[in-house]
Amino acid sequence: MDLVIFNKIKKKALEDHIPIIMDDTLEVVAKILKEIKPTRILEIGTAVGYSAICFSEYLEKDGIIDTIERDEERLKEAKENIKNLELEDKIKIHSGDAVEILPTLNGEYDIVFIDAAKGKYPFFLKEAQRLLKPQGVIIADNVLYKGYVMSDYNKHKQRTAVRNLREYIKEVTENPNMETEILEVGDGLAITKRR
Ligand code: SAH
Ligand code: MG
Repeated sequence: MDLVIFNKIKKKALEDHIPIIMDDTLEVVAKILKEIKPTRILEIGTAVGYSAICFSEYLEKDGIIDTIERDEERLKEAKENIKNLELEDKIKIHSGDAVEILPTLNGEYDIVFIDAAKGKYPFFLKEAQRLLKPQGVIIADNVLYKGYVMSDYNKHKQRTAVRNLREYIKEVTENPNMETEILEVGDGLAITKRR
């Protein structure tokens, strides 16, 4: 990968306050990707393509990332970034709301990375389970949401997001078919495997 272009993309994303994956979070995800050696990754929440670009380094030969984004401006920038790095063969962008796109997808993913609207995490989880390989891993970013999720403060204006993130955590930790680790890296990362 052309590191000059890559670093420019990262710098611009940070300047534009795009919530790209944090370095410590990426380190954890990269470790999982190295173990799993994925051929198919599903990402919910492309933004400008930064995380997908990072993950593409860990794809097996002929591997592909499907990534979903609904914001027109970000989509445009993501497409440009991916083109400039010549990663069009590896990263396929789906334009639109993940709530509508996910049910149209099929097939088996090694990794599902959830990094979009927090209020939709329980729905994303259901779809991720449907689309995941038996040995696959679901990784969800921002599950601790600045500490709101684990605090008892309920009056926050983001309470729908907080309620749904709590529901997500409850499901992945209490469902006997799943095994989940929640890490305090970045904004909170939930790593879920099937039993
Ligand atoms: N994964 C990216 C960051 C994603 S930020 C990275 O680490 O580089 C979250 C993105 O999800 C935003 O760009 C937002 O527009 C998008 N998003 C939020 N809800 C969505 C939905 N329901 N469908 C599609 N995209 C969504
Ligand atoms: Mg995130």
